[in-house]
Amino acid sequence: MISPDKKMDLLMSLCKRRGFVYADSDIYGGFANAWDYGPYGTELKNNIRDAWWKRFVHGREDMVGVDTPVVQNPKIWEASGHLATFSDPLVDCKKCRRRFRADHLMEAAGATVMSNIKCTACAGDLTEIKNFNLMFKTFVGVTEDTSSVAYLRPETAAGMFTTWKDIRDGMRKKLPFGIAQVGKAFRNEITPGQFIFRTREFEQMEIEYFVKPDDSERAFEVWLNEMKGWVNDVLKLDPSHVVYHEIADADRAFYSKRTIDVEYHYPFGQKELYGLANRTDYDLSQHQKFSNEDLRWFDAETGERYLPYVIEPSWGLSRTVLAVLCEHLDIDEADTSVGAHGDAPTTEPRMVLRLPPRLAPVKAAVLPLQKKDGLSELGRELAQKIRSAGIVVEYDESGSIGKRYRRQDEIGTPWCFTLDYTSKEDGTVTVRDRDAMTQERVKMDEIVAWINNKLS
Ligand code: ATP
Repeated sequence: MISPDKKMDLLMSLCKRRGFVYADSDIYGGFANAWDYGPYGTELKNNIRDAWWKRFVHGREDMVGVDTPVVQNPKIWEASGHLATFSDPLVDCKKCRRRFRADHLMEAAGATVMSNIKCTACAGDLTEIKNFNLMFKTFVGVTEDTSSVAYLRPETAAGMFTTWKDIRDGMRKKLPFGIAQVGKAFRNEITPGQFIFRTREFEQMEIEYFVKPDDSERAFEVWLNEMKGWVNDVLKLDPSHVVYHEIADADRAFYSKRTIDVEYHYPFGQKELYGLANRTDYDLSQHQKFSNEDLRWFDAETGERYLPYVIEPSWGLSRTVLAVLCEHLDIDEADTSVGAHGDAPTTEPRMVLRLPPRLAPVKAAVLPLQKKDGLSELGRELAQKIRSAGIVVEYDESGSIGKRYRRQDEIGTPWCFTLDYTSKEDGTVTVRDRDAMTQERVKMDEIVAWINNKLS
């Protein structure tokens, strides 16, 4: 059995080598806890984002999508409570100066108070807890004074509350309905780390689902099932790797009627992947108070006016990328026969990314067995036909066929199409399935339909 640390090391080296994730600003010595998504990482992330948007926005009658700025009117953060309370408890080690989140230390020690907890690195004494606000501050305009202070949004959710009034008035929706957004969020995390799990800049996919207050418990259950469906059917995470953690009354935000953290068994431990909360009418009532606008819903049937409750399912996009990579990376330690770079043999075990085809960065690879006798031209022609149909395809003619298959396995390509001399005669190619390892012959003319059929 491969150790969790070794698995993370192999995953991170694969991500760098194969163009999924690079250390950011590497040529300048790097920038702590910032990462660049490389060509395949970008495709994977976009595919997850697009599958989410299709499923939860385009796929539903009761949903609309928005795209709001990262820097908005700072009053929003006063109203939402982020200015006053969006902080993490921070402690420093008096001896080695390391910095920790007090809640993480308590959780690891199974303690409810900090007394007797020491630095986990050097056993030194820790300072008193200080609350550290996680919002990044900036200045808008040319003067850098208090009147120009603004913040980078720490979550995308605020944009759904600032657009609520326009959508309520102009989009002809009926309760219950939701507003969705995908975008960047920024938090000056005290202890970022674990690769792309916790970074200071990250992406979220969030929904604020507005309901009649007495309908909120039902809607919460519906969204819990929607989140399960996403995790099981789209990401294909093994259900035994996912925990739906009901947050106890005492540990919930004061305004939340119910909260569930969706946790995933990452190699470094069981950690939050997503969150689902019944936020009651807290946000709308705060924004109503601070903006002096009437944000209530008017129910034309009953003549009632009220502030809807909000169910908030919140998905971290970057954390999803990591969970999907951890889940579907298959490591065969016994097989080190082919160099992982596709050249000289190494001692790296064989790795296959068994990504769900819909999420895979590259759907198909076209690989002629020979470059000569017109196979190269035929292969390029086939690749272009697939590309023109909007399917991401790679053409590769260099190196042994075994090494080319391994390279495609490492980036998760589900199907490789191999051309040989028979292809010239009868217009067929061999399809190699990444997971089943089966080989069948398919007509070149039918490949686009074949792939689309598999993807649907
Ligand atoms: P954590 O307890 O891990 O700090 P949180 O409870 O503060 O997370 P939320 O405020 O509920 O997180 O944010 C919603 C989602 O956004 C999280 O479930 C997670 O997927 C994602 N997320 C939050 N912070 C980060 C981060 N620093 N890096 C990457 N993703 C994040």
